[in-house]
Amino acid sequence: MDYISTRGKVEAIGFIDAILMGLADDGGLLVPKHIPQLSADTLQAWQKLSYSELALEIFSLYVNNEIPREDLKQLVDDSYATFRDEAVTPVRRLHDGMYVLELFHGPTFAFKDIALQFLGNLYSYVSRKTNSIIHILGATSGDTGASAIEGVRGKEGIRICILHPHQKVSKVQELQMTTVEDANVLNLAVEGTFDDCQRIIKELFADVAFKHHYHLRAINSINIARILAQTVYYFYAYFRLADQEQVGKVNFSVPTGNFGDIFAGYLAQKMGLPINKLILATNENNILERFVHEGVYQPGAFRGTHSPSMDIQVASNFERYLFYLYGEDAEAVTAIMEQFKAEGRVTIPADKLQTVQADFAAYGVQNEECLDTISTYYENYNYLLDPHTACGVAAADKLAVDGEVMVALSTAHPAKFDESIRLRDIEQTYPEQIQALFDKKQFQTVVGGSNDEIKEQLVKFF
Ligand SMILES: *Cc1c(COP(=O)(O)O)cnc(C)c1O
Repeated sequence: MDYISTRGKVEAIGFIDAILMGLADDGGLLVPKHIPQLSADTLQAWQKLSYSELALEIFSLYVNNEIPREDLKQLVDDSYATFRDEAVTPVRRLHDGMYVLELFHGPTFAFKDIALQFLGNLYSYVSRKTNSIIHILGATSGDTGASAIEGVRGKEGIRICILHPHQKVSKVQELQMTTVEDANVLNLAVEGTFDDCQRIIKELFADVAFKHHYHLRAINSINIARILAQTVYYFYAYFRLADQEQVGKVNFSVPTGNFGDIFAGYLAQKMGLPINKLILATNENNILERFVHEGVYQPGAFRGTHSPSMDIQVASNFERYLFYLYGEDAEAVTAIMEQFKAEGRVTIPADKLQTVQADFAAYGVQNEECLDTISTYYENYNYLLDPHTACGVAAADKLAVDGEVMVALSTAHPAKFDESIRLRDIEQTYPEQIQALFDKKQFQTVVGGSNDEIKEQLVKFF
């Protein structure tokens, strides 16, 4: 399998080079050159596979023998052995036609573990095989940092530095990142916002001499490995429903920020999984909802919400969808992205909007509605939703159609966002792994927001 850029200016590269490249060198995003097409027989055969077996089959299609099958199997098995639930991503029924796909049973209680446990092991494997050093640099609003650190802590050949906005992540998120003792982990708490952290990272990666000298690698959701890992649970969930009943149409409702998770669903559908509708659930930062309804892609004013991992105005994976919307025409994508950069807005023509609306439905959830959904499901179904999942469930409820099945992706455990849950006077008991964090020593360095100061810390660390 070769990988190409959505902007068409990178020569086709293999799987491992695509992982290491992260953002394509021409500023685009890497996508597989051909999307593997699954026959009905293959789908039927996959129905009885365990999560790890299924992941192995799916990765095999994309890795194309660059990693021997037995090595790949080991990587996959190691990545999902750390999950607390035997099913890895169990599906639970909430009420008639409404299910949640629980993606939070990994080490940091958020869905990002599914991709980052694998990516951590993969980086470690590549480091061993190529005898090279991997230095990971990333910024986080909370979940990605904790997952990425957990994915590589203590691993030889890898060092990781994560920037987070000082005292602007949830308490549990802060503890998950900063109570890690391993010497290959550096937490920099930046006096500023998440946007400041992200800007610093972007500028450091743009400093090509610095990037190459220190072997900097990215872990954000533009990395194609993350998308591929996330396609697996769409298949897995679909098969679990098919086990249970005569499934008719199955819809997935996806709490969306950077468009990574929902793009994985779109890819699964393009591979041949018979998904009926993908529902794009946003919070009050609803640029993507407006895009699906009106065909206009234009950031609005930033809103702080109860679901901070979805507080995103410009969705970094959106360009991957544009590439397919425009029939894999890299020139058209380049023109659109350039127009967006110059004018801060793009409008797609009516025929394209029709395609978008056939691919997705969308619903933006207001802050009060998010909390109302948490209360309702707690009272009526004795199920505690985290605020991100609540956006997915609220959108699924809103767009439900009689006789169709809705699967809302549950992207985090409610214990990670207790500050919001408490607003509805709901008391929860923390899982023991989270409770234990409160007694641990924290390791973090508080820094100002200047690039030089961060560089100085990195040079000391690497
Ligand atoms: C990252 C995250 C999301 C958004 O996922 P995208 O792939 O960025 O769309 C939703 N919920 C939680 C809890 C997250 O951590």
